[in-house]
Amino acid sequence: MANKNVYSFGGGKADGKAAMKNLLGGKGANLAEMSNLGIPVPAGFTITTEACNSYLAHGGELPSGLWEQVLAALRTMEQETGKRFGDPSNPLLVSCRSGAKFSMPGMMDTVLDIGLNDEVTEGMIKLTGNERFAFDSYRRLIQMFGTVVLGIRDEPFEDVLARHRENRGVESDADLTEDDLRSIVAKFKDIVRRHARIEFPSDAEDQLRMATRAVFDSWNGKRARDYRQAANIPHDLGTAVNVVTMVYGNLGEGSATGVAMSRNATTGENLLEGDYLTNAQGEDVVAGTRPTKPLEELKAEMPAVYEQFEGIARRLEKHYREMQDMEFTVERGELWILQTRTGKRTAQAAVRIAVELAEQGLITREEAVLRVAPEQIEFFLHPQFSAAAKAGHEVIARGLNVSPGAATGVVAFDPDLAARWVEQDGRAVLLVRPETRPDDVHGMLAARGILTSSGGRTSHAALVARQFGKPAVVGASQLDIDVGARSMMVDDLEIKEGDWLSIDGTTGEVFAGELETVVPDIEDEWLSRLMGWADEFRRLGVRANADYPDDAARARKYGAEGIGLCRTEHMFFETERLPTVQRMITTRSPAERREAVDSLLPFQREDFAGLFRAMDGLPVIIRLIDPPLHEFLPSFEELTRELADLQIRITNAGSLDEVEGITAKLSETRSMLDRVGSLREQNPMLGLRGVRLGILIPELTRMQVRAVIEAACEVSREGHEAIPEIMIPLTSHVNELRRQREVLEEEARAVMEEQGVEVAYQFGTMIEVPRAALTARQIAEYAEFLSFGTNDLTQTTFAMSRDDAESGFLVRYIQDGILPNNPFATLDEDGVAKIMSFAVTEARETRPTIETGVCGEHGGDPASIAICDRLGLDYVSCSPYRVPIARLSAAQSALRARGDENPA
Ligand code: PEP
Ligand code: MG
Repeated sequence: MANKNVYSFGGGKADGKAAMKNLLGGKGANLAEMSNLGIPVPAGFTITTEACNSYLAHGGELPSGLWEQVLAALRTMEQETGKRFGDPSNPLLVSCRSGAKFSMPGMMDTVLDIGLNDEVTEGMIKLTGNERFAFDSYRRLIQMFGTVVLGIRDEPFEDVLARHRENRGVESDADLTEDDLRSIVAKFKDIVRRHARIEFPSDAEDQLRMATRAVFDSWNGKRARDYRQAANIPHDLGTAVNVVTMVYGNLGEGSATGVAMSRNATTGENLLEGDYLTNAQGEDVVAGTRPTKPLEELKAEMPAVYEQFEGIARRLEKHYREMQDMEFTVERGELWILQTRTGKRTAQAAVRIAVELAEQGLITREEAVLRVAPEQIEFFLHPQFSAAAKAGHEVIARGLNVSPGAATGVVAFDPDLAARWVEQDGRAVLLVRPETRPDDVHGMLAARGILTSSGGRTSHAALVARQFGKPAVVGASQLDIDVGARSMMVDDLEIKEGDWLSIDGTTGEVFAGELETVVPDIEDEWLSRLMGWADEFRRLGVRANADYPDDAARARKYGAEGIGLCRTEHMFFETERLPTVQRMITTRSPAERREAVDSLLPFQREDFAGLFRAMDGLPVIIRLIDPPLHEFLPSFEELTRELADLQIRITNAGSLDEVEGITAKLSETRSMLDRVGSLREQNPMLGLRGVRLGILIPELTRMQVRAVIEAACEVSREGHEAIPEIMIPLTSHVNELRRQREVLEEEARAVMEEQGVEVAYQFGTMIEVPRAALTARQIAEYAEFLSFGTNDLTQTTFAMSRDDAESGFLVRYIQDGILPNNPFATLDEDGVAKIMSFAVTEARETRPTIETGVCGEHGGDPASIAICDRLGLDYVSCSPYRVPIARLSAAQSALRARGDENPA
């Protein structure tokens, strides 16, 4: 027997259910679920994703037995509706829509009004007494069938409509008469004949079969593939096909159609919201071609229907334990729900909804924490326009604030140009369109933000922007965009392609020019609550990589529990210190070096005191100087050029004074070049850096240790608690550590005696070389803590340059699937993490309570954080802006480890 490939629903029962999304797609599974719940859904059936995959795998051949199952399901629909497919006296008309496991709005194909032909249209006129409606439906079928199934471009159809509108002197298709539509149908059939070289198929079953195949084929269409690529949806899922009884929202004023969300998708507020149109079809609402009415108005217009809908929305939300996005149609006073799914939402809304659902008892706190993606937290850190920037610019237009955040860029009126400007020229671009379509997605993804002149909250532009976190303003109707002329008018102001424009997706405002952006505070009350719960669930500590007191203060505000890495060399690069640092490096005189090092001491002491104050009571890991010294000096090439230049100048010098000046400069440059030359290495990353510097220049270690301990004494005298942890970089052999520890302890003891203050500090090392990891048992004899420098550890484990690989061969490696992802972004679980795991185990043999953490870039990456959690590290350390993301990721990792997955 053939597999069951067709699942019926409708009339309060269904073969499928919500849990069958893999097989029935999201839409089909939810239609079945609603039917089982007794919610009014029009009768229909779903053809499975398995059937689609078999069709695609067998070169477009429908699986055997499929069509017999479809016909049987059609007979069931006929019984349910009392109508017959293809019967002019009482016709059943159906829609044929895609429906994949994950929603891909507008990416695949739909054909409506299947079952109409010349005779059935006449039959419809008799039944409804509405000739205009029947012919309008017929022309829609031919147009959709022509474009979707037969691959004809939309333009010839649209041209015919435009000519009729012009002749009639009307703006909208809705104002065309039945005579117009009758003639349009004839012309549309002619377009099919000329472009596809076939007669428009009049047999209802032929129409359905061809439409089904077209929907299957659309899974592999370019725009669907692009969308899946961007949304990380696997390509082998296939789409289901839903065949559903047509219900009409365009049968007069007692009919309507609309979309609604059970909560506000922008703010998350617990209020039913939506848009609808009376006497219209679904696509009119989504396309934004007619101004929609807010759902509130339905309360007055059709009170009983509104009340029924509100009840259903609440019931669905409770049943699914999640905010719902619904489509409905009212046909002559009767309400039908055509779809429900989890509503897409902004990050702010995601957080508030999760928190409020938990507070209402619909979900647990654990589920709430698992429902917010760590990346969504980034929105709270998104740039906004500063009040000052806004005050200085006039709002030139306003639209709907559908996706928050501020974006500024040059205007591009088409998606290809937007993508090109971004990818090839690195420009900041705003994509500005009358409305967006699924074909525009590549340009939308490239752009900083999206602005449209029409469309609503549920328009394509709004959905896509929200999903990908692009600031967006839609429906800014004051914009008069002329894509052909590459410009737009806003009242008297002309804005041309390439001009700067700014949008505020949080407020819906549009400004001319480039506005300065600032990063907001994350003191959102819902986020604070969610983060509080996350902190209860996580095991991993979260620290920040911060070099300056301001960074440290921000990190602490974002929830950092200490500093996991202060890169002390960053302080050496500051303008007023650099000459001293250079003198320290270039001098050959020990006395001069001592003096240069000593003059850096007060700077470093102040730097560290600032960090200790900001982190009062929390540990601060200070890493001694790490990079190769030549990084502080001018480059060899630059100096060579300068020397050549000076030599030319000296031959052309006009006066003795000038010669003298140039000679002095020449000797200085020559001596610098000598020194830089002598420090030059073929492989500086494997050269004189890290602990090796401290070994060769012990006075540097002494100075830095002195600065740390003096700062700690100073700060404790002020009444703060300083908890310094001094860290040695790039250790590969235990003897390096033993040597450094001797120097360090001697200096620290001396300072404490001078100051008369005891400072409890710890001594530890980074693990960023495989040899250090492999010998962690010995290392732990001297190190009280280990911090994995996974940037270098990845570099040294893979023998791949962290500076070059990502813009070189690594791109190909990832594209070709040689590596599953970029190991500098996500920890390599099988290799690098294995080395780390070995090191942790070995180190604990020597020192069971040794503190372990990670301070490479991976410390802020959710997938890597989960790996660190599994390794049993004590903390991760990341940039201040990623601290909240790390807190949430750590909580999710802990919850997943105990088997708490999100059941929704
Ligand atoms: C590392 O190597 O991971 C690290 C944190 O040190 P840096 O990036 O400063 O080399
Ligand atoms: Mg390093």
